[in-house]
Amino acid sequence: MPGFEVFGEEEKKEIMDVLDTGVLFRYEFADQRKGIYKVRTFEENFAKYCGAKYAQAVTSGTAALKVALAALGVGPGDEVITQGFTFVATWEAIFDAGAVPVFTEVDETLNMDPADLEKKITDKTKVIIPVHMLGAMARIKEIKAIADKHGIPVLEDTAQAAGGTLEGKHLGTFGACGTFSFDSVKTMTTGEGGMIITDDEKLQRDMSEYHDHGHDHAVNPGGRGGEGRSFIGFNYRMMELQGAMGIAQLKKLNGMITGQKKNKAALKEAIAKIPGVSFRTILDDKGDTATFIGFFLEDAAKAQKVNEVLAANGAGAIPFGSNTWHFYPKWEHLIAGSTLAKSGWPFQDQGSKRRVIYDKDALPASAALMDRLLVYQVPVKLSYERFVEMSAALQKAAAV
Ligand SMILES: *Cc1c(COP(=O)(O)O)cnc(C)c1O
Repeated sequence: MPGFEVFGEEEKKEIMDVLDTGVLFRYEFADQRKGIYKVRTFEENFAKYCGAKYAQAVTSGTAALKVALAALGVGPGDEVITQGFTFVATWEAIFDAGAVPVFTEVDETLNMDPADLEKKITDKTKVIIPVHMLGAMARIKEIKAIADKHGIPVLEDTAQAAGGTLEGKHLGTFGACGTFSFDSVKTMTTGEGGMIITDDEKLQRDMSEYHDHGHDHAVNPGGRGGEGRSFIGFNYRMMELQGAMGIAQLKKLNGMITGQKKNKAALKEAIAKIPGVSFRTILDDKGDTATFIGFFLEDAAKAQKVNEVLAANGAGAIPFGSNTWHFYPKWEHLIAGSTLAKSGWPFQDQGSKRRVIYDKDALPASAALMDRLLVYQVPVKLSYERFVEMSAALQKAAAV
């Protein structure tokens, strides 16, 4: 998965360009920076790579979600629908925007179940956030069609699937906007960082201004310029060192995906030998970034047994069903409504009235799937020795 496997001279050169000018700020300092605008260049390159009109760099994938939700007009009283299998950041951003997250089931794509989405839409639904989890596509065309029918914008959380496509079209370009993360363990990384892509000029302008304290960016698109402010914002600015890293890493993204695809194919062959195994549904193999491989056993007991053998032989898989960062029933702070705010916000209103309750048994279909699921992260570089070790472990597991 992570881009840190391929750090090299390219990243160093880009970083040194920045240190040579001494300008870490993405705006201003025109005289000193010798025409070097790393964040701006990274945005232009990323938009072009994805086939989007605009890209807005921010400090993280979580910030990208927050900025996108703000620009889409989400606030208190609103509901935002996302899936019960995702990283906690997706719903943290929804709460941070003042809204309430509503969770759908996932199906064998391990992403949003469109049929359940349809059931969870209400008058209060303001945005729908499908997540392209574990490197591969959600049923984004069906989800978009349902959202369109109800006139609700779609925000694609593409944090785990940069470079992924569906029928040749980049993930993140199907909805009103798509967000990305470049944190330290993502396929391409800037250490910390995020991006939002869109084709909508107004949305882009609002995101650009919101992420920079509401500064007027209209007078000087791509720069700062004006001193007027149309609305309150916040600071989610990316700095030049991250932009520099992003430029170098983006150039390596396709190569990383190619490496992962090769390793995933080899692992898949070895996993297929386990009797009764089936694989996660990938709608378009060509568009899979191959950062992960997910497989199902017949039932929870079998999955646990298989994973015990794998672990005992040095190749334990991730049982995402019991992973506390990614699956709804395991988010104990969400279920308990824990918050630092003395008022109880965002779980309670000012008058201590319970605002929203999360029941850990609310997603039975997802739970039944997740209990049978095992996942490997696919490295960009898989040594022959490691592959032999994993194959041997899988062979032993096949005999269970
Ligand atoms: C990593 C991740 C994020 C958050 O990104 P950060 O850059 O770590 O803030 C959001 N959503 C998903 C699905 C992620 O995996």
